[in-house]
Amino acid sequence: MKVHPPDPSHPLPRRAFWSNEPPLINIRTLLSLVCVVVATVAAHAAKPVEAPPKASDPSRIFKAGAATSDITPAIGAPTVGVWAPVPSTHVQDDLYLRCLALDDGATRRGFAVVHSVGVPREVIDVAKRLVQQETGVPSENLMMSATHTHSAPSARGANALVMGGPLEEYQKFLARRIADGVRRALNNL
Ligand SMILES: [Zn+2]
Repeated sequence: MKVHPPDPSHPLPRRAFWSNEPPLINIRTLLSLVCVVVATVAAHAAKPVEAPPKASDPSRIFKAGAATSDITPAIGAPTVGVWAPVPSTHVQDDLYLRCLALDDGATRRGFAVVHSVGVPREVIDVAKRLVQQETGVPSENLMMSATHTHSAPSARGANALVMGGPLEEYQKFLARRIADGVRRALNNL
């Protein structure tokens, strides 16, 4: 291939940085990104680091406790999972809720997972209130959920779409069992 020497009458093409093609990133955008990165790094650097717990402080030992509670309703309770709930005629397997309690030496937290298609807010509120009254663990430290099984009686009351009514018998039983399950998990810390 023949290489021609540079022709002074044809200036070299300008560097891509100054080309008329649209740049990949606007210089202002680039500066903004740099500022965000610098500010983020500075904010993290300024954040006080929590002192690690002293190994000699026994109150700072991390502990966990667990418990299960039977929540099987009476035979005859309507089973969900089909278009129209049908009364149960047998208990294939008992239903349980499972609870976990955690304690880092400063804060206690409780968790409950209920094997049910859904647990209304009202039931959860009662359970949390009971735990708070009986153990001192504040309700904001409690997390409760349901597995959404379609093979068990519902805990959502006669009309799952109407909220705020008085609790039915099974809902009262469930609230008490959830609270007791969390208490038992806390006892097992
Ligand atoms: Zn469903």
